Amino acid sequence: MDDARVTTAHTEPPTDRVPGRAWTIRLTGHSDRSATVSCTTTACRMPPRSKDLAALRAFAAQHAAAHAKAATVRPNAWCHCGSTRCEAHPDIRTHCAGAVTLILRHDPTVGRVWTIEEVCAACAPLIPHTTVVARAARPRRTVEQPAAAAVPAPAQPGVPGGFSSPGTAPADGAPAPGRRSGRRTPRPQHRRTGQR
Ligand SMILES: [Zn+2]
Ligand SMILES: [Zn+2]
Ligand SMILES: [Zn+2]
Repeated sequence: MDDARVTTAHTEPPTDRVPGRAWTIRLTGHSDRSATVSCTTTACRMPPRSKDLAALRAFAAQHAAAHAKAATVRPNAWCHCGSTRCEAHPDIRTHCAGAVTLILRHDPTVGRVWTIEEVCAACAPLIPHTTVVARAARPRRTVEQPAAAAVPAPAQPGVPGGFSSPGTAPADGAPAPGRRSGRRTPRPQHRRTGQR
């Protein structure tokens, strides 16, 4: 067996883990009260520098949502939070574990940064101002559909001629004659004494 913890750069990792991705959309203000929107994906088209901050902010939020929607969570991704030494939640330490989760971070008090990240299920609830967008499907689950259940059962033939089936008891509510009609008053019980 090979040592899985080799550190040589050219060695393939034992599992094809990939680095967790992150997208950051940032609203940057300038001294003349205009602002620009930037995305870490350089291919993304951004609106021109403008003084309409509300429009730029709306664009940034929509752009972040579009990235979150377009990204497919990869179940073999490393936790992006863990790869940054969990600096997003410095007060609570955890060990990265669980299914990969796609989160959208946006601190409304800052209001200028939107981040979409692939993180683990342990880190996701610890990161503030986070909305879980998607979760990766568990890689080991196998869904087997029973084939027999899909086939419709043939229609049950009805009882011919209107006969009731032989095992059916007569209808309830008709008391059989001579059995337990009315309440029976309990007899007073006398103890017979004196028999010696
Ligand atoms: Zn983008
Ligand atoms: Zn973390
Ligand atoms: Zn993590």
